[in-house]
Amino acid sequence: MDAFTFYNPTKLIFGQGKTEHLAEELVVYDRNVLLVYGGGSIKKNGLYEKVTKQLELAGCTVTELAGVEPNPRLTTVQKGIDLCKEKQIGFILAVGGGSVIDATKAIAVGARHDGDIWDIITKKETPMDALPFGTILTLAATGSEMNSGSVITNWETHQKKGWGSIFSFPNFSILDPINTLSVPQDQTVYGIVDMMSHVLEAYFHPAENTPLQDRICESILHTVIEAAPPLLDDLENVDLRETILYSGTMALNGITQMGARGDWGTHNLEHAVSAVFDIPHAGGLAILFPHWLRHSIDVNPERSAMLATNVFGVDPTGKDKQDVALEGIDKLAAFWKQLGAPSRLADYGIDESKLEQIADIACENGIYGNYHKLGKPQTLEILKAAL
Ligand code: NAP
Ligand code: FE
Repeated sequence: MDAFTFYNPTKLIFGQGKTEHLAEELVVYDRNVLLVYGGGSIKKNGLYEKVTKQLELAGCTVTELAGVEPNPRLTTVQKGIDLCKEKQIGFILAVGGGSVIDATKAIAVGARHDGDIWDIITKKETPMDALPFGTILTLAATGSEMNSGSVITNWETHQKKGWGSIFSFPNFSILDPINTLSVPQDQTVYGIVDMMSHVLEAYFHPAENTPLQDRICESILHTVIEAAPPLLDDLENVDLRETILYSGTMALNGITQMGARGDWGTHNLEHAVSAVFDIPHAGGLAILFPHWLRHSIDVNPERSAMLATNVFGVDPTGKDKQDVALEGIDKLAAFWKQLGAPSRLADYGIDESKLEQIADIACENGIYGNYHKLGKPQTLEILKAAL
């Protein structure tokens, strides 16, 4: 395996009813709080009342930033930074899914930065500080609740960029499965596809001698594959919600990538697609990942076949590695389709006319992908196969 340093300072508070303990967490932070949330799901499911009661209990003065959009926008981040500076905010509380948390990370860093936040998101400048922030996660998907990653879209330049820093880990995250009971069918499916994609990105790495890393990835995939179908038949099953919530966090909190840095090319390509078409992140991943996997088989047929046999139960007897791998990829694609995820770019009305633009955005920093190196010709091959 590769040499590695592991750092993850987020305090994870997990369990049913933990939302009612928010006030206990807040007492060690500044009480001048910015409350950040999305388009209103927390007002419909009663979480807003629960949270404001806790903020009141802790004696907080609250300013609100509502309306963070899925695929959070730079304009909204800037609004949050301006509010923090104007109101001298000392702590931010994010209540929502990955979009709300990702926007909050950029606001927290931007509030303690004199220049333009876009320079940090595009990695031209290094963050040196951030406001402390906590999260209450409402959707199992991104892992943003326990990592430093943040993805922000700039619609003026058609760029969707991921960035992170030691200052963008949440100080604490409350994961209460009850808060995820109201997630609708489609968003539940997207979350499942996103967390499985994070594990697949980690699984396809160039490092050698990684038996434990590989088994951790396979275990998370097994668990999600087992829990997802019954959950989709019974969306209010709190035990299954709990399993999926924990899986989403474990899929992208750094544990799977100790000593083995994954590929992340499919995420880069999906960000390029959603910089041109405002589609759900995991909808794009469900379409692209099987095609990336087929395109990658020859990089290391052994590894592709290992996924097929260890996770998808493909019998390798008498078959060559490529065929075993292909069978496994077909099973993955069928599993996502059975859950109701999209499988073709056409499902979002995307045709050949914008593929060049998408490929240019995906390749704007040159060759990408840590396991399977992709340039523009290969990117176009994958996109065309996904039409
Ligand atoms: P999201 O964009 O945060 O939320 C999707 C939708 O689900 C929103 O309409 C939201 O409604 C709704 N929702 C959330 N919780 C709900 C609940 N409890 N009940 C009912 N509806 C609920 O989805 P996400 O998949 O978590 O985040 C996607 C973003 O994260 C993308 O921009 C993606 O690129 C990024 N991402 C980040 C990382 C990372 O490591 N940081 C990794 C992968 C992807 P409201 O707005 O009304 O709340
Ligand atoms: Fe993702």
